[in-house]
Amino acid sequence: MKIFVTRNLPGRALSRLSEAHEVDVWEYETPPTKDQIIERAKECAGIITLLSDDISRNLIAALPELKVISQYAVGYNNIDITEATRRGIIVTNTPGVLTEATADLTWALILSVARRIAEADRYVREGAWRVAWGPELLLGMDIFGATLGIIGMGRIGYAVARRTTGFDMQVLYYSRSDTYLTRAAEKNLGAIKMSLEQLLAEADIVSIHVPLTDQTRNMIAGKELSLMKQTAILINTSRGAVVNENDLYEFLRERRIYGAGLDVFQQEPTPLDNHLLELDNVVATPHIGSATVSTRNRMAQIVVDNILQALDNKKPKHLVNHEVYHQS
Ligand code: NAD
Repeated sequence: MKIFVTRNLPGRALSRLSEAHEVDVWEYETPPTKDQIIERAKECAGIITLLSDDISRNLIAALPELKVISQYAVGYNNIDITEATRRGIIVTNTPGVLTEATADLTWALILSVARRIAEADRYVREGAWRVAWGPELLLGMDIFGATLGIIGMGRIGYAVARRTTGFDMQVLYYSRSDTYLTRAAEKNLGAIKMSLEQLLAEADIVSIHVPLTDQTRNMIAGKELSLMKQTAILINTSRGAVVNENDLYEFLRERRIYGAGLDVFQQEPTPLDNHLLELDNVVATPHIGSATVSTRNRMAQIVVDNILQALDNKKPKHLVNHEVYHQS
């Protein structure tokens, strides 16, 4: 069967796919447009997609042969799942395998913002370091003993929380449902469940780990930011649209919160004139949560496993739309 892959993937996973199917890989670094995807995938039974591909209702409708969409990410807010399901198209993702790498990056941002690492690096390189040691030079915030608030105690939220033990931190969390992870967080880490409002008011570091949905879009805007401590840090490694960037900019500029670490933005790549990039108390990374060599290789193996299983009429292990198997 024919398969279109919207970007080359690291490692050797795609050669395994080519042994079983006819694989066409988009050859450029810039993503294909909607029309280019339609042109290349119109006869395809499967496509491998990235979170930057807008797999809309119209696009799905223009791919009549499509049986499976295998997403190279755990998040799938770029795919119209309802439409895919309605048309009997299987959607898969890559959960779990990127959890630890994304939790590590979250901690890299926590440490960078609290201890002003990016700012300090610029200070050294720009030749501003003229006095050997200063009692008040680049003072930051303590992490040891601080309180961490996790919004969305899922796989990544729990992995971020687990890393607090060496820092002797109290963990608070706000999450939609009770799961084995929320129970583990309470039992193993002494995490305390509370309302979003209470968490925002009490946490020194607030870290967001919810998926982007209709309920979480704009979840952290002016009203929520106004509840945070003036000394608090906001970290977002989930999706940009969960946070209102204009409101965040105002709060950071006026130092009504201490700082922010952002791996994700409302628009990606974020334009250079995004005001957030003018602020020293912002550390920005270009959506690299899962970007380690071994994680990206393993994600590539999983997207290939998922698509092979689906095209072989087996239920893929990492299925997003379970309903697709239960409709007539
Ligand atoms: P997950 O499904 O295991 O966890 C999400 C958690 O959010 C769950 O506990 C869920 O109950 C909770 N939640 C969902 N909606 C909520 C709501 N309205 N209110 C409160 N809680 C809610 O997912 P995960 O594997 O931990 O990944 C989380 C997200 O992180 C992904 O959806 C993706 O968008 C993002 N992500 C980003 C990167 C990156 O590179 N920066 C990498 C991986 C994942």
